[in-house]
Amino acid sequence: MKIENIEAFPLRYPEPNDAGNMRTITVVRIDTDDGAVGWGECVTMWVEASKAVKLVIEEGLAPLLIGQDPCNVGSLWAKMKDHCWWYGEGGIASFAISALDIALWDLRGKALGQPIYKLLGGKQQARLRACASTHPSKAQIADLARELGDHAANGYTAVKVGFGKKGDANLGTNPRRDIEYAAAVREAIGPEVDFMIDLGKSNRYDVGTVIKLVHAFEQTGLRWIEDPFIPDATEDYLRLKGAISSTIATCERDWTTADYARHINAGIADVFLMDVGRAEGITATWKVIQLLEAAGKYFNAHTWSSGINTAASIHLSAATSNVIVLEVKPIPNPMQHELIKEPITVQNGWIEIIEKPGLGVEIDEAVLRKYTIGN
Ligand SMILES: [Mg+2]
Repeated sequence: MKIENIEAFPLRYPEPNDAGNMRTITVVRIDTDDGAVGWGECVTMWVEASKAVKLVIEEGLAPLLIGQDPCNVGSLWAKMKDHCWWYGEGGIASFAISALDIALWDLRGKALGQPIYKLLGGKQQARLRACASTHPSKAQIADLARELGDHAANGYTAVKVGFGKKGDANLGTNPRRDIEYAAAVREAIGPEVDFMIDLGKSNRYDVGTVIKLVHAFEQTGLRWIEDPFIPDATEDYLRLKGAISSTIATCERDWTTADYARHINAGIADVFLMDVGRAEGITATWKVIQLLEAAGKYFNAHTWSSGINTAASIHLSAATSNVIVLEVKPIPNPMQHELIKEPITVQNGWIEIIEKPGLGVEIDEAVLRKYTIGN
């Protein structure tokens, strides 16, 4: 099996889970000489980043891969990293490597007739507990809380909210209102459902304020606090860690295995988020999972884009003992429910492990073309 052709597709689509805002990803297709097709994706998020990634993939990295056997994904990953040595410790190069690496693993699985998780360590999870990962956008606290109550009523046993998102929710700007919000959510979801708060995009409170906030959130039962500071604010993390009993999650914006190794060793958190479509693919994510298992920390897939990314995240999560939930966008959306022919679904709060070869998802190419920028 030899790689014959590589093409990248920047896609732009409306995201109902983000108040209908337009979002952007880049999908990659690899064709082989025996007719197999591999799919990958990276979370480029901005149009210009997607266009730049298309260029890096098609003009920079594709020439290294054409004519090669995709089953040798380890050496091809190293070749791509080596090629990008000057411009690629993170950023556009990491996006490009992510998408290509996922597509190579898809082909490797298809060539061997095995789902990707079996090519990693095999199954350590019989199924994955779903977390409804939400961007609150309504203005009124009662409406915001009701939204999460609905997800709990639909079977989710974990819900997460991102503060500082687009829309009218304005969370992460006023500590008193944030506390009022958390209490209203607990009331709406009931006592048993795990509740995670992601300060991420807001990220504007100082360490003292965050400690006070988390103490208040803990009164209503907080599963974890996410991204309270940027990952390099080690002292703030350690101060927070010493002052609270809740789990700390972070690092979804890290790019490389070296970034993760540094932050895991700094002891700043318990859960490390990682986007396979950003942090250099399945190859790199699997390396970081090994570091996390050795350190007794948890892996959490950051996956909020297409079903390609979610499928890769399912295989990775299934293959480790150290995972708590798999995050999903709870409202049906184009990149999960149109682009993928048999979408990944949540049944009674759980997600089944994919058993088909490779990623195990099939792409609807008419939908791919419909959302491709420039079409
Ligand atoms: Mg987050």
